[in-house]
Amino acid sequence: MNPRKNTRITFNVPHLTGKEVHYIYDAVFNKQLSGNGKYTKLCHQFFQNKYGFQKVLLTSSCTDALEMCALLIDIQAGDEVIMPSYTFVSTANAFVLRGTKIVFADSYPHHPNMNVDEIEPLITSKTKAIVVMHYAGIANDMKKVKELAQKYNLYIIEDAALSIDSYYIENNQRIPLGGIGHLATMSFHETKNIISGEGGMLIVNDTKFEKRAEILWEKGTNRSAFFRGEVDKYGWMDIGSSFLPSELVAAFLYAQLEHLQEIQTKRLHLWNNYYNGLKDLEKKGYFSLPYIPPYATNNAHIFYLVCNNLKDRTNLIQYLKDNSIQAVFHYLSLHKSLFYKDKHDGRELPNSDKFSDCLVRLPMFYDLTDEQQNEIIQHIYNFYKS
Ligand SMILES: *Cc1c(COP(=O)(O)O)cnc(C)c1O
Repeated sequence: MNPRKNTRITFNVPHLTGKEVHYIYDAVFNKQLSGNGKYTKLCHQFFQNKYGFQKVLLTSSCTDALEMCALLIDIQAGDEVIMPSYTFVSTANAFVLRGTKIVFADSYPHHPNMNVDEIEPLITSKTKAIVVMHYAGIANDMKKVKELAQKYNLYIIEDAALSIDSYYIENNQRIPLGGIGHLATMSFHETKNIISGEGGMLIVNDTKFEKRAEILWEKGTNRSAFFRGEVDKYGWMDIGSSFLPSELVAAFLYAQLEHLQEIQTKRLHLWNNYYNGLKDLEKKGYFSLPYIPPYATNNAHIFYLVCNNLKDRTNLIQYLKDNSIQAVFHYLSLHKSLFYKDKHDGRELPNSDKFSDCLVRLPMFYDLTDEQQNEIIQHIYNFYKS
């Protein structure tokens, strides 16, 4: 059964730039299939050159990269990390795997990002890290996070899964998201702006983690150093796993990265179409549109509306579905999840719950046409007229 069969405009369609299979063929033809070969290096260089990241490592997923972060900061059972409740399950799971207690913080009233003004009272002597997730690729207020990390000697980890090609602006300078925390992660899952099916990346900004990151990445061995000719044999150095993707995945990813600018330009065009097309309805108070703070840029990863209540959202999604348009909600508060609700300390996080109940994402993908968008916008007008 094809779940997309009866939907005319789906929420996402993966975009192919054209060279993906060509590069995979090249890797196959050259018999370079396992990880850390030519295409992995090309992808690494791309990120280092374009964003000035010192050290990056492709991983099989952003989830894997987050697990590497937990290992790298050497988090122990009983330690605590602070993170938003309104995020993807992997942000938390990576730390829960190590026995970490998750202390969830609420979102801002006007934005799904973690409200950084509420972090300080949550810090205890066991707190080891603040994990920030930039929702929809919109930067959180990192100045405050950096001040707290400094004051309490904490690590900052950025879950930048959604944040490729987006920036945080500080003193008129643009700092790429993923380049701020001691460690950061990105995702190339099929639903993100740049894709490789499944895929992710670890970004190491604190040089003290560089060597160990490579060892954890290569099953706990110093094989990477061996391949660079730095040691004459490689062996078991530390804990680790097989976090690196095969060259087939990296080859696909490289074809995407070569078209990053074009993809971003198109997505921003689509994002602005939605924004301009729906402004008038926002003015009438039917819903609110995404807020972009002055310290953030927009990478057009998600276009969302925040409805006034759950009932409106349910009805809107159904109305669009009846008109063959697939709109979807997003994260569900992790502190209320079946898995964590009994482990949570009981604090109410009303803003996180509000976004769980009221946020709806509209179809957003490279090959979406202006005509399709106009149709979606028209249906939203019709819904609110009736
Ligand atoms: C998609 C996503 C992830 C997981 O990425 P994978 O590459 O699928 O592991 C992690 N965090 C956030 C915020 C995400 O949206």
